Amino acid sequence: VKVTIDRPKCLRSGQCTYLHPKLFKEGEGGIPVVLVDEVPPELQAEAEDAAEICPSGAIVIEE
Ligand code: SF4
Repeated sequence: VKVTIDRPKCLRSGQCTYLHPKLFKEGEGGIPVVLVDEVPPELQAEAEDAAEICPSGAIVIEE
């Protein structure tokens, strides 16, 4: 499972980096950077939660 950020959609609201610092950190211009290449099983629920809470649907989970 991979997580990507749809950068043009991101509102830079910061929820993902604040709530899920193991997966995201703030990057250039406030757009988050994904910290893992593959989401490890123990972070899968966090990744799904991040995608749900993102106000703009910019967090994409790919199987
Ligand atoms: S929660 Fe969504 S809109 Fe907010 S910074 Fe993260 S990716 Fe961007």
